[in-house]
Formats: sequence, structure tokens, C-alpha cells
Amino acid sequence: MPKATLKPRHEQRIARGHLWVYQGNIASIDGDPAPGGEIDVYSSRGDFLGRGYYNPRSQIAVRLLSREAGPIDKEFFAERIRQAQEYRARFVPQASSYRLIYSEGDWLPGLIADRYEDVLVVQLLTLGMDRRRDEIVRAMAETVRPRAIYERSDAQSRRHEGLEPRRGLLWGELPPQPMIIGENGLRFEIDVTEGQKTGYFLDQRENRRRLAPLVPGARVLDAFCHTGSFAIHALRYGAQEVLGVDSSEQAVAMARRNAALNGFAGRARFVAANAFDFLRELDRQGERFDCVILDPPAFAKGKAHVEAARRGYKEVNLRGIKLLRSGGFLVTCSCSHHMTAAMFFELILDAAADARRQLRLVETGSQAKDHPVLAGVPETAYLKCFVFQVF
Ligand code: SAH
Repeated sequence: MPKATLKPRHEQRIARGHLWVYQGNIASIDGDPAPGGEIDVYSSRGDFLGRGYYNPRSQIAVRLLSREAGPIDKEFFAERIRQAQEYRARFVPQASSYRLIYSEGDWLPGLIADRYEDVLVVQLLTLGMDRRRDEIVRAMAETVRPRAIYERSDAQSRRHEGLEPRRGLLWGELPPQPMIIGENGLRFEIDVTEGQKTGYFLDQRENRRRLAPLVPGARVLDAFCHTGSFAIHALRYGAQEVLGVDSSEQAVAMARRNAALNGFAGRARFVAANAFDFLRELDRQGERFDCVILDPPAFAKGKAHVEAARRGYKEVNLRGIKLLRSGGFLVTCSCSHHMTAAMFFELILDAAADARRQLRLVETGSQAKDHPVLAGVPETAYLKCFVFQVF
């Protein structure tokens, strides 16, 4: 087995649970690890730290798969998948659609699998996982017994690994798209072949339920609504009417169908527009809401973009706050890992100050429990959701 030995004092992060070994952590490599092939990692003192896969082209040279020196084969993946199933059965027992495998959060760095009823949608995001496609698919087919396994490895991040985007059916028979999934007792149309990411944002399941006490009788604005999930939850929890906006025509068309599917067509309106412009226009027209939901895309994709992202988040929060009547509720989210909860909180306070408004923090949320956070891998925590009452 090829062997990577770390520089002195470079093992602490890994001992504390991180799974990534950067090129700069490595003192020497013995043997000739294949790109994507297995490699054992040792501390400078010669202690075995774990087994992972190697990519000479990535800044992250090794991602650990195991703290033991056993084989990385179909049975290894099947066992990890069973453990992931047990975790979901315990923590999201009601969900029929959930993230079954969340990369590092399930000790399977580079692998994501979203379960949409009986269909699995997978993302193989690293060379090491890409090379193991066959074992992974066979392990999933045997362990989960889905109707289909569909690949959506079309994330930009694959480029850092020297991989091209890929999508297509890997196993079984895909039901006609769009298909319908259930969430919190509601029904949503999704398209796993054409939708964003793997088709739906499962990570907001718990935050959508936070709307229940906020919206009875309310007029609600759902900005960055995608397929309307927050808006439709609001209607279920008694909102009088909802207005949704998203820049994607396709998402907005689906949001309209989702409102109809749940019997709310008459109380929902969805508009395809740039949310920044749309919110400014609503303010100019003097429109006011009892609840505003802000769920923009990740403005900070990397550390270098944090300052630009801060301006974007502040701008959108300022606009959202201005649209609230006194006593109304702001549900505001950030899905950028690099935008920390503390930074996000501060910029919302700044936005409120600019708008001469006061905030009361009702609650804070993060990603749903089927997106587990590995304590030693801070990058696994990314979603922030604050609920404020705005005066
Ligand atoms: N709230 C959604 C998820 C939002 S994901 C849910 O619960 O499912 C972010 C969304 O922002 C995407 O649907 C994307 O199409 C949209 N988006 C990105 N930039 C935008 C912009 N400038 N204006 C409006 N929508 C935008």
C-alpha cells in the first residue's frame, strides 16, 4: 500500500477528526499511488492515521475513508450505507425523501446520495469516488434496493479534481420526470434530471417547519423560492397569501404547479425575476408583508469571496427588512460555509441599523439532521437560518 507521511505537527487536525490531507501537509510519499487510488497516511512519528484515496491534481491530496487498514471495496461501502440508513431511521424517521449520504458527514468524502422516495440521486464529486462508481452503485443497489440510481455529477467542484461533469442513469429504471415527493405532509414536484443540484433542497426541511407559528393569517414573501417549498409550507400553516420570486423560469413554473398540487393555487403567486430588483420594486410600491423568507444561493463559494458575499447578503437582508411591517418575521438563511453564523448575524444587525429597525431573535436553525455535521470537519456545517421579529 502506498504511504504518505505527514510533516511534524501536521497531524493534529486529522487526529481531531478532519478527513482532508492537503498537499502541504505531506512530507513524503512512498510507493506510487495511482490518481484516485488508495493510500495510507502516517504521522511524522510513524503512527497510522487512516486510509484514503489520493489525487495528485487536487489541493486536497488525500481524503480519508477509514481510520482502519481494511479493504475499500463494495462491502466497505455497503457497511457505510447501512450506518447512514440507521442514522436517518433514528433522526428523520418520518421523511420519505432525505439525504442518505452526506459526504464527510457520513465518512464518505466526495459522495452524496439523495433519496427521493424510491429513487437515489448520487453525486460523485472527487476522483477517488469517481473511480469507485461501480462498487458504490452495486453496494447501493443491494443495500437500499431503490427503483433507480441516477447520477448528477454536474457540480462545478469536480473541475478542481480534474473531472468533467457527468449525468445519467446508473441503475434500474427512472420513473418519468417530473416526479412527486412528500415532505412534512405536503407534496412537491421535482425533476431529478433537470432540476438544480439533485432536484430539491432537502436541507431546509426543518427550517420550513419553523414557519408554523409565524404565518397564520399572514401575507408572506418567499424570496429565492425555487420550487416554492417555503411558500407552500406557509400556506399549509395558515398564511393568507404568498408571493414567491426566483430568477429561474423553470423553478417558478414548478412552484405554481406545486401550489396547485397542494390545493393552494388561489392564494399563491410566483414571479420569475431577479430578487434584488423585485424586492426594491415592491418597496417602491409600498408593499408590506407579515413574513419575509430569504434563502439566496451561496454567495461565497470560497474564502476569497466572503467580502463580496457579505455585501450581497447585507443588501438582500436590508431589502427584506424594509418590506416587513412592525412585528413581522424575517426568516433569513445563508448556505455558504465561509459565511460564519457570527458574520451572518452581524451583517443582518447592520442591515437592520441601516433600515432603522430593531430585531428580536426568535430562533436559530441549521441544516436538517440528514445532513450531519462531522465535529472535526467544519466544512460540513454550512446552513444558517435565523428567525427574527422585526420592529
Ligand atoms: N428556498 C428554496 C431554495 C433556494 S436555492 C427552497 O426552499 O427550495 C436558491 C435559489 O435562488 C435558486 O432557486 C436560484 O434559482 C435562485 N436565484 C439565484 N440568484 C437569484 C436572483 N438574483 N434572484 C432571484 N433568484 C435567484
